[in-house]
Amino acid sequence: MTVLRDPKRSVLLFHTGLAVFSLLPALILLPLLAAATGKSPVPLLSGLAVIALFQLLGALYRAGAIPGALPLRLSYLTLKMIQSLHLISEYTPEKVVVVMNNRKALAAAPAGFSPDRTLILLPHCLQSHQCPIRLTYDPDGCERCGRCPIGNLLDIRDRFGTHFAIASGGTSARRIVEKVRPSLIVAVACPIDLSLGILDVQPITTVGVLNQWRNGPCYDTWVDSRELEAALTLLLGGGGT
Ligand code: SF4
Repeated sequence: MTVLRDPKRSVLLFHTGLAVFSLLPALILLPLLAAATGKSPVPLLSGLAVIALFQLLGALYRAGAIPGALPLRLSYLTLKMIQSLHLISEYTPEKVVVVMNNRKALAAAPAGFSPDRTLILLPHCLQSHQCPIRLTYDPDGCERCGRCPIGNLLDIRDRFGTHFAIASGGTSARRIVEKVRPSLIVAVACPIDLSLGILDVQPITTVGVLNQWRNGPCYDTWVDSRELEAALTLLLGGGGT
């Protein structure tokens, strides 16, 4: 499944982010303990224990053993800092959030989600700029002409019987989530919106699918509807027949 694209690299980067983050408390602890205990091995061992503790947190997050997304958030913030130094490429931190989140969400399958508590959430840039129909208030106004992916995605919505909404931005997406109150969101967006949205709606289970920039960002974007279908099949138990 491409929603889990390059998982090994993402796991490695996730743990790297946590390791770098944990250097800060370790480096604060080290001189304090050195001053208190002199030349004993306690300061060094304590510093290593802090680093190991954060790695353990990361492993527990990956195993779904702790609620929330604190380790993912900490790793993301650190990777953003590393990215600002041009040590990793643009959107890498965001893609790590999406992949790590998806791994966790899909590992829980089948988790007993119901279609009436499931929301397919899309960005308005998926709609063809040539389409004159306004869809943000009523997606069913779409005539499913095939010029953009919205028609296919509505077909999937019909097969699974989920909620379906098109957001015009982050605030609009938040309002839709508050209104529908889903327990599962399958969302399409760019790396930045998707990663921020995933962290924002915790603890709601979310599967993120990156849109494709065939014409650059935010303009006539595309998505492989099979990715959404595969996630829904996994989490809702094959309703799309
Ligand atoms: S599929 Fe729907 S939204 Fe897309 S161009 Fe056709 S009518 Fe418009």
